[in-house]
Amino acid sequence: VSDFDREWDELRARMREVLDLDAVVALLGWDEETYLPPAAHPDRGRQVALVEALRHRLLVAPRLGELLDEIGARPLDEERAAIVARLGRRRERAVRVPEPLVRALAEARSAALDAWGYAREELDFGLFAPRLRALLDLVRERAHALLDGSSDPYDALLDEHEPGLTRAALEPLLVGLCDGLRPLLAAVAEAAPAEPRPLAHLHAPVEAHARLSRRLLEQLGFDFARGRNDRSTHPFTLQCGPHDVRLTTRVSVDDPLLATLTAAHECGHALYDQGFAPAHLGTVLAEAPSIGMHEAQARLWENHVARRRVFWERWLPVVREEVGGALAGISVDEAHRHLNAVAPGPVRVQADELSYDLHVLVRYRLETALLDGDLPVEELPGAWRETLVATFDRAEVAPRDDLEGCLQDVHWALGELGYFPTYTVGNLYAAQLVAAFERAEGPLDAALAGGRFDRLLEWLRERVHRRGHLESAEDTIRRATGAALSAAPYLDYLRRKYAELYPTAAIR
Ligand SMILES: [Zn+2]
Repeated sequence: VSDFDREWDELRARMREVLDLDAVVALLGWDEETYLPPAAHPDRGRQVALVEALRHRLLVAPRLGELLDEIGARPLDEERAAIVARLGRRRERAVRVPEPLVRALAEARSAALDAWGYAREELDFGLFAPRLRALLDLVRERAHALLDGSSDPYDALLDEHEPGLTRAALEPLLVGLCDGLRPLLAAVAEAAPAEPRPLAHLHAPVEAHARLSRRLLEQLGFDFARGRNDRSTHPFTLQCGPHDVRLTTRVSVDDPLLATLTAAHECGHALYDQGFAPAHLGTVLAEAPSIGMHEAQARLWENHVARRRVFWERWLPVVREEVGGALAGISVDEAHRHLNAVAPGPVRVQADELSYDLHVLVRYRLETALLDGDLPVEELPGAWRETLVATFDRAEVAPRDDLEGCLQDVHWALGELGYFPTYTVGNLYAAQLVAAFERAEGPLDAALAGGRFDRLLEWLRERVHRRGHLESAEDTIRRATGAALSAAPYLDYLRRKYAELYPTAAIR
């Protein structure tokens, strides 16, 4: 056995330990959101902090640095070079943030999260403001520690979620997209003024939702031998190991048509996590190259598949079978219109496709102002309202209170700045991928006809999933679609779709 092989084996073993601790952290988090008894939360906080500290020690260990340097100095094949680059970047980020700052951030985050919860219960932003201010100071400090070749701390935060993306590239993309969305939204809202949610009375019991999400996941291709589907208040998907992908769907008794969208979204995340190349499992290559690319898989199945008419031709009878009564008189056309209704409002998670990215732009404007120090935290509620109304150019989106306004999202309470833009990046990548699929394989409607999802899934597996983190998100999208991140295919898709749904709308 050569020195190189010995060193490579040692590097792999050390990488495996880090990834196993990732899985432990994910599993503890999954449990916390699903089955943990309420009184056990403080214990869980301590357990997670301990595992994270152990993982941090593994990453900053000098021996790992030596191995990366020695191996990285030799000629390597594509996979090994990518492993060294990804693991090296992860180690570098761990080294740059000193341990006292890591601990201070964890404490500030937990205090801010608690305060956010109280502020929502009491409907009093003042309870959250001081904690958010303290957390923002630490987030800024951490961003400065992570800065690499840029002087803008927001770039460091973006880079964490969407490697390579900068404020200078993001802003014109977001603004340009929203300049295209605003008139489209106005035209559609004008053509369909009195149709907010025509089927808003629909609901189904929890058991029916559970059966429906299982059937949906089976049809879309989720592998239950390598994953689970449980329930939680907020749906999410976590990779708890190479063969353990856990997704949740909502507990609440609500609209089974809209619940299908949520389940399809999480299934999109899960299909990606189950689709990495077998040879990459147990390495840093079995992961998405960016949060936006992960989100793209979810939005593709949610918006381009589960909101599509052809999908409901097969799925509506299944929903009727499981839910019965309430859905008896509803046609495929009605279901399709219901799922694509346009009703601009103050809440992001309830937003239609034409409003969604305007919400992202609002958050981008506010979080950059907060980070830059241009917006004092105590002025956030008013600034939220003003920015929202101005971005939509519609008075009706003004929130009635802070619950519908600046207290609606948990991200800032977790110190997650630079995250919201990944939702838009996901929308754009998803539309680019679907357009490329159609250029290569013909209309998606034809590929999905008869309730078949295998052609689309296999195309995504080959072009995106199996690549994992072998390359950057930018390289993946270029190779899969022939173009860099762009808003044009997304705007095209929305224009075509809404022109068909609302033939009287003045869509150009
Ligand atoms: Zn998602």
